[in-house]
Amino acid sequence: MNEQIENLFKENNVPKFRLKQLQHAIYKDLITDFEQITTFPKWLKDKIKAANIPLTTMELIESHRSGNTVKFVLKTHDGHFIESVLIEHKDERKTVCVSCQVFCAVGCKFCATGANSYKRNLTTDEITEQVLFVSRYLKHQDARVTNIVYMGMGEPFLTYKPVEESVKLLNSPDYFNIGARHIVVSTSGIVPRIYDYAEIGIQAKLAISLHAPNQKLRSELMPINDRYPLADLMKACDYFVEKTGKRISYEYVLIGGINDQIEQAKELVDLLIDRKSHVNLLVYNPHEFADYKMPLEKDVIAFRNYLQTRGIEVTIRKSMGDDISGACGQLSGKQLEEKNKGPVFAQKEYFDGDLEKK
Ligand code: SAH
Ligand code: SF4
Repeated sequence: MNEQIENLFKENNVPKFRLKQLQHAIYKDLITDFEQITTFPKWLKDKIKAANIPLTTMELIESHRSGNTVKFVLKTHDGHFIESVLIEHKDERKTVCVSCQVFCAVGCKFCATGANSYKRNLTTDEITEQVLFVSRYLKHQDARVTNIVYMGMGEPFLTYKPVEESVKLLNSPDYFNIGARHIVVSTSGIVPRIYDYAEIGIQAKLAISLHAPNQKLRSELMPINDRYPLADLMKACDYFVEKTGKRISYEYVLIGGINDQIEQAKELVDLLIDRKSHVNLLVYNPHEFADYKMPLEKDVIAFRNYLQTRGIEVTIRKSMGDDISGACGQLSGKQLEEKNKGPVFAQKEYFDGDLEKK
């Protein structure tokens, strides 16, 4: 959108301050139609209308609420379907889990996103627009997006440039104005990009999908670990902490009988004890693309307790729809895959707060 508008403004010698007004209208007033820009003269709005420039590159297809999460299905201009999730916490926080690719090429063995074939990277606009749609939705309840996690479809560090740009736009006071400390990018461990991210220059956070405490088991669960071995990953993490002073969140999905025993908890303590870290234990969410089992509740508790008593900061993230971990990382199951194969959906109005299906 921006490029088209910028060209139109140039062609018509529109002064620069109009771009600022436009940004304000889109990201602060959350307009859904250029007509609604109160600061623009009619002739300028008519010009934009005549040029037929869309306000967003994607369209909202549907949204579903389940408990405290709302899933948004969006369609890209070239017919792909992606999902974003809003998590409404008990306090004031409103977290959006964004996608950065259509499916994922990394192929972790336990992940539904990775089981579907990767289609393409999302653009910077496509990443930020996810937050825009959710912001419009929240406007109706006088609330705003406070936190962002890059934990939807895709591997952020295999599409680094748009991810970096979008993090900066989400943080920028001229755009979304979301505190850098409230933005978390999660990676399966693309080592060179961790070094790049350490240089991003704002206080955005890093999460590592660890899932196993040793080289052998990690490679079994996450083939990317052959390319970027655990030892190199931890070196990159140490660099990130040294450079930014920020602690890292380690995501560890407990899979029944695979990585959820005290033996692995001990190894995990050895790995993290001298590192500035926080462990998020996720409970494996079973799906048709993999043969793994959920962990037993007693094993989850024992694992957590072991880490805790050894001085590791740890949180159990609950299951489906209840927390970020339940809402993200499980995207692109059958339903979305079907949609990505299926017919083109009918155009809907821009989201106006009434489309939500219970
Ligand atoms: N590709 C990035 C961002 C996705 S984050 C990454 O892997 O870090 C989504 C999180 O949910 C990741 O930690 C992922 O490993 C985890 N996850 C994937 N499938 C899951 C499942 N079936 N149950 C629980 N967590 C899962
Ligand atoms: Fe991709 Fe992350 Fe799923 Fe691995 S866990 S396949 S990196 S989305």
